[in-house]
Amino acid sequence: MAGKDAPEIYETLLLNKEGEKLDVELNAGIVQYEGKPADFVFIRDIRERKKAEDALRDSKRTYESIYETTLSLTVEDNMNKVIKQIADQATLLLDASDCAVYLADTEKKVLTPIYSNHKNYSKEILSYDIPFGKGISGNVFKNKETIFLNYDEEDPYSVHIPDTDQHEDAHESVLSTPMFYNNNVIGVLTLNIYRSKFEDADAKKLEIFARYAELAIKRADTLEKLKESRTALEESENKVKKLHDVASNMINVTREKDLYKITIEAAKNILDFSVCSIDMLDRFEFIVKATMGGVQKEGTRYPMEGVAGETILQNRSFLIKDMDNVDFAEPKRSSYRSAISIPIEEHGVFQALSEETNYFDEKDLELAEILISHFIVAYEKMITEKNLHEERKQLLSIFDSIDEIIYVSDPKTYEILYANKACRNLFGNNIIGQICYEKLQQKDEPCDFCTNKIILQSEGEPYLWEFYNPIIDKHLMIVDRIIKWTDGRDVRFEIAIDITERKRAEEELEKYKDHLEELVKERTEELNEVNRELESFAYSISHDLRAPLRGIEGFSQALLEDCKEDVNEEALEYAIRISDAANRMNILIQDLLSYSRMTTNEMKLRSVPTNDIIDRVLIELNNMIEEKDAEIIVETTIPEVIAHSSTLVQILTNFISNSLKYVSANKTPKIRIRGESQGEYVRIIIEDDGIGIPADKQEEIFEIFERLHGRETYSGTGIGLAIVKKGVERMGGRVGVESELGKGSKFWVELPSG
Ligand code: ADP
Repeated sequence: MAGKDAPEIYETLLLNKEGEKLDVELNAGIVQYEGKPADFVFIRDIRERKKAEDALRDSKRTYESIYETTLSLTVEDNMNKVIKQIADQATLLLDASDCAVYLADTEKKVLTPIYSNHKNYSKEILSYDIPFGKGISGNVFKNKETIFLNYDEEDPYSVHIPDTDQHEDAHESVLSTPMFYNNNVIGVLTLNIYRSKFEDADAKKLEIFARYAELAIKRADTLEKLKESRTALEESENKVKKLHDVASNMINVTREKDLYKITIEAAKNILDFSVCSIDMLDRFEFIVKATMGGVQKEGTRYPMEGVAGETILQNRSFLIKDMDNVDFAEPKRSSYRSAISIPIEEHGVFQALSEETNYFDEKDLELAEILISHFIVAYEKMITEKNLHEERKQLLSIFDSIDEIIYVSDPKTYEILYANKACRNLFGNNIIGQICYEKLQQKDEPCDFCTNKIILQSEGEPYLWEFYNPIIDKHLMIVDRIIKWTDGRDVRFEIAIDITERKRAEEELEKYKDHLEELVKERTEELNEVNRELESFAYSISHDLRAPLRGIEGFSQALLEDCKEDVNEEALEYAIRISDAANRMNILIQDLLSYSRMTTNEMKLRSVPTNDIIDRVLIELNNMIEEKDAEIIVETTIPEVIAHSSTLVQILTNFISNSLKYVSANKTPKIRIRGESQGEYVRIIIEDDGIGIPADKQEEIFEIFERLHGRETYSGTGIGLAIVKKGVERMGGRVGVESELGKGSKFWVELPSG
């Protein structure tokens, strides 16, 4: 039983006299007793220690089991599952009948049952919210501490919970503990046990368990929120991506109808809008262009009112959670309670509707706005293209009606992009898409005279050139320039005007030109000869006429002076008339002779001082000036001219004498003579305030014998200005008049400056 020296200690069970089992510690050894070795045994009652050890073991087990139980809780990330597990594990841990988990609703001030694993009454339990402070659970929440109430104890909380009445059992004990989250009670864990009682240890256990439960709830909540926001983000990212894909389809659509369809389908399929429509404005009315699940059919017109009207007026989106709260909404007209309404610029609105309130959120609006922004881009592109297309069509139809060749080609690839009717008629209907040098010039490579390089460098400036195209046998005047083609590239625009006729005429003319010049020279010579002959004839006639005229003059004079006594009155009167007529004829002959001299006389031109010439003229005309009492102002700085001086004297005499003569009766003439330098010429101007010359006669009067008045009104031969014209022309100058009837005349002569 014992070792040799050392005492042995061990524990065992002993029965006392009452038959009770006792935990004892035996301490045995050998001692010297009266000189002899003797065995000894100490027996120690270790019941208390044993109890404490058991309690320790128990509590260790309890913690272990709580720990194990809660391990499964923490791996769960779904809140519902976590709560269910909390209830089930708590039931198991405390060997209870059932457990309910309540979460606090601070707004409503109630504990809402989330889960109950009661075999029969879970439904009833779940249907009843417990007000804060009511019943055991309500008090646990309120006092923030664990309460247990065994069936044999009096109920200080005097709970009367209607739904739980049905299953109230006289032998039901209740244990309830709060669950904390950030020091706030977020819920209550309530356990029931039948025909059994809870102890403090149970309460402790549950409290420890509750700490783990809280952590699990916290973790699940965070995870769930995280997951929620992550999936929401992913979902919306996904939707945005899908909307972008749709946008690329939208942009390629050419028909308005298709664009509406794509948009409305995207609203349904991507944004999950079951009721939506695109309503476009037409003269202050909306027309439903496309709709999905709506009450208004496509094509329906409705006035610019309500939410849609307001969207256009305020030019902003609306997210309406409840139509009843929006004064401009028209809930009477429809059963819709919430809406999204987005302006499509000034063109219309997009709307999504629901019969439920709070159906749409900001995220829906944001996504719908993305969709509509894609729509707007595509719509405006389409409208611009449509307008451009129209304008282009108009322009092309104008080009088609022009007879000249018009075509457009790519200066890089030489492809013909457009050809008008005139061009197609000449080169063939199929030339569009072909290579220009092949079709228009029948060449295998670009023409060496191609103007592409020139026009590409001249930045839109037109380039003009002429060209003979042997293919169509036509001379063309060509205008080339670079323009922007519809797809944005720089292209060559050419108009070729057919100048074949003109060219032929020019060539023809060129052929005859030399011959013609010769012919003209010949004819001029002939004409000059004839003229000279005529003039010398006129000269000799005039000259020859002077002798007999002098005879007539002499004899009529003799008759008047010498035979005055021998003839009667009548005969004398006739003699006077003969004398007058002879006088006039003399003047006429003088004038004619001066005129002839203008052609025949040799004229030596030199620089002459104009003012001196004028002085000479005025001296010669002195009598007439005095007789008329005329006022003559002469500018003293008139530049010198290249002239034949006596011819210039003659010219200025004729002008000034006319100005003195052609004034209305009783008026004193006022004449102004001045000079103007005009480049290489000097203009001498004789301005009078006489009777003036009607506009249609101002050229005529320079012709010989042209007179505007009868001899009775103003005497004259009608040769004076003809002499002027001839003289000026011979001196290489020009002559003219500016005048208005009744307001005077301004005669001018231009001669090379001296
Ligand atoms: P005439 O001998 O008749 O003056 P001219 O050849 O000098 O011949 O002039 C031709 C006509 O031009 C005149 O008959 C007159 O009608 C008109 N004429 C010439 N000078 C003037 C003038 N200064 N004012 C008005 N009419 C004039």
